[in-house]
Amino acid sequence: MMETVSQRLHQVLDSLPQGVRLVAVSKYHPSESILEAYAEGQRLFGESHVQELQAKHTQLPDDIEWHFIGHLQTNKVKYIVPYVAMIEAVDSIRLLREIERQAARCNRVVDVLLELHIAEEETKYGLTPDACRQLLAEGEWRDMPHVRICGLMMMASYVEDEEQIRREMMIASDLFDELKTNYFAHSPWFCERSWGMSHDYPIACQCHSTLVRVGTTIFGERVY
Ligand SMILES: *Cc1c(COP(=O)(O)O)cnc(C)c1O
Repeated sequence: MMETVSQRLHQVLDSLPQGVRLVAVSKYHPSESILEAYAEGQRLFGESHVQELQAKHTQLPDDIEWHFIGHLQTNKVKYIVPYVAMIEAVDSIRLLREIERQAARCNRVVDVLLELHIAEEETKYGLTPDACRQLLAEGEWRDMPHVRICGLMMMASYVEDEEQIRREMMIASDLFDELKTNYFAHSPWFCERSWGMSHDYPIACQCHSTLVRVGTTIFGERVY
């Protein structure tokens, strides 16, 4: 028998330890699938394309918390800043500046995560740990009252080797601790560690993740 979205959603939710929230990644899946999860109480959804998010945001209930999890071009920031709950993949000071500028225009404070590049794969976006340290050390972010840096996001290498995945996630977790001590000790909002996808979220839960971003396991294979 085919399992439904709601059954798979509950299987994932039931497997998460306390303190780990689920970002249901709904990219390329229709609004009907989102509504199935919504009917079960899921409110946090992740999308990675601006146009698609725009369309879904207009169609779907207002109390959905949208996380933008994809690579965001600076010229598209203005479209999502008025309503997005979190921009997860900030990987440059340029992007951060544009989020600050657009958030100021609509009088919002936008939560963001800094995206790390730790995986060995060439194609992934993100800041190396040293680039991330440098961005914070330079301090320009301190003059951005409309941006709140809430933690780190990363994608581990897409490999079978669980030890490699674990190693990469622990590099991210250790960096989180270091930055927390050095810059955010008195900032309770700096508390998010976003790692773990369909194939590796059980490992992420053992590596101090607070947000797992799971798509395929809940909604099935994406049709591009
Ligand atoms: C698509 C996507 C996910 C979800 O991937 P699944 O393998 O379908 O769970 C998670 N994070 C990011 C950044 C994504 O683009």
